[in-house]
Amino acid sequence: MPDAPVTQIPLSQRARLHQAAVSPVRLWRHGSRREKTFIFAGWLLSLVLSVLLGMLSVLDNWSGLSLTLGGVDIYITVYPPLLVAVFWALCFGWWWGAVPAWISTMTLALYAGMSPGWAALFACADPLGIGVMVMGYRAITTLRHLRGFDSLLYFTMLSFVSSIFGSSGALIWCYNQHLAAAQSLPIWQGWWVGFFLQNLLLAGPLIWLVWPRLERWYRHRPALMRPDERDSRRLMLLLLALVTLGVLVYGFATLYLGSGKLSAISLSALPAALANAVMVMNQTAWVFFWVFGLLVVFNALFGYRLFLHWQGINDRLMAELKSANASLEALARLDGLTGLLNRRAGDAEINLAWQRSRRYRQSASVIMLDIDHFKRVNDRYGHDAGDAVIMMVARVIQSTLRVGDVAIRYGGEEFLLVLPQTGGDGAAQLAERLRQLIAQGPTVYCGLTIPVTISLGVAELTGGDVSREDWVRRADKALYLAKRGGRDRVELHR
Ligand code: GH3
Ligand code: MG
Ligand code: MG
Repeated sequence: MPDAPVTQIPLSQRARLHQAAVSPVRLWRHGSRREKTFIFAGWLLSLVLSVLLGMLSVLDNWSGLSLTLGGVDIYITVYPPLLVAVFWALCFGWWWGAVPAWISTMTLALYAGMSPGWAALFACADPLGIGVMVMGYRAITTLRHLRGFDSLLYFTMLSFVSSIFGSSGALIWCYNQHLAAAQSLPIWQGWWVGFFLQNLLLAGPLIWLVWPRLERWYRHRPALMRPDERDSRRLMLLLLALVTLGVLVYGFATLYLGSGKLSAISLSALPAALANAVMVMNQTAWVFFWVFGLLVVFNALFGYRLFLHWQGINDRLMAELKSANASLEALARLDGLTGLLNRRAGDAEINLAWQRSRRYRQSASVIMLDIDHFKRVNDRYGHDAGDAVIMMVARVIQSTLRVGDVAIRYGGEEFLLVLPQTGGDGAAQLAERLRQLIAQGPTVYCGLTIPVTISLGVAELTGGDVSREDWVRRADKALYLAKRGGRDRVELHR
């Protein structure tokens, strides 16, 4: 349902949206009173609730359902604080869920008589599992609205992987309680199955229900979100490594505890054929684990190489695109014949010089330059010769100007020179030098010597110029005077 509006959000914002992490500091500073009450009070309430529910499960000595599936005993753990934590972590950010999860488990463990050190470690298991889930959502831009196949599948897979990581708590618990493998196996299996089922059946529907509203709120309140400075590529690789590790640890722990349980059974009490079959099965299972483990590691490495390969191609294409864009942008600013700035780019330069001169109270001048009797050049020597003359004039201008001066091909055979920090007299001197250089060096084109002269009008920016157009217009007027005065000359508009 919310797909349509989501696709309209710019990518950068989408990435932030899918991160879905509210910064407590930003919420405190910029949140409305209603938002603050709702979120902070709601969070504190769920913290208290999860501690109480956690304690209740110990007091009541009720922590799950005992099940026998196909002859295997599993003790499915139901742990209410986990539901609270997953909800907060996925909807508001990892810390929001990790803190209640840690505190409630820590309280429970201390109450159950665990030493503080072990309790602190034990309490990290659920935040670890939830962390893997949050990271999964941050690494890949999959929306967590849980509507649609992709979103549901990703949630299910992430729930599974994080349940394996979360179940490290069971191993710590069993080790700490000195439980034998026979007792540890069902507890550990129940722990991750419980984590997984709780996520699917309780946390999932809750997020499904709340997410669309939350997403709308997120879109209106980007100021409250934590800035996402982490590189999603690194997260992706880390996720790949973690999932691989999760699969290996899962396989190893299952077989290790399973074989432990087996060795507790006295095989000699069994008929010889059966004892032999059990031994073979056990060995086969271990061989399977190592082969399977190798394949999983190979898959991960292959995925990693593939990822780097595509990323490399992607990076190269991006770099090429960037440089092509840069050269296109430069080309769009230049005149094709002379390489000087074109009129459009030139206008921006005039504007800049105008504004700088006004702001810093510095002088600035413009020179309007026009080739004399250019029509005759075209008529007598041809259009190509005319082009050569225009190029020659542009070359002379370019080699004469200082750094910071700007030359613009303003019209057909008309040029405008913008001279920042230059007064009228200085500009007139430059104009005179240009006039002499052009007059002294006629253009030679296909063995023909073409005499060229130019006329120039100079205007210094004054307080009387209301706009930059006024300024340029005065240079144009001076040029007109130079033409009327006989051409091949400089006029300064005062
Ligand atoms: P004046 O001394 O009064 O400036 O006389 P003019 O002949 O130069 O007069 P005008 O400025 O009106 O003529 C400009 C001519 O320049 C008209 C046009 O055919 C020619 N022209 C404009 N752009 C180009 C170009 O890119 N190449 C060539 N070869 N000719 C051009
Ligand atoms: Mg002309
Ligand atoms: Mg002209």
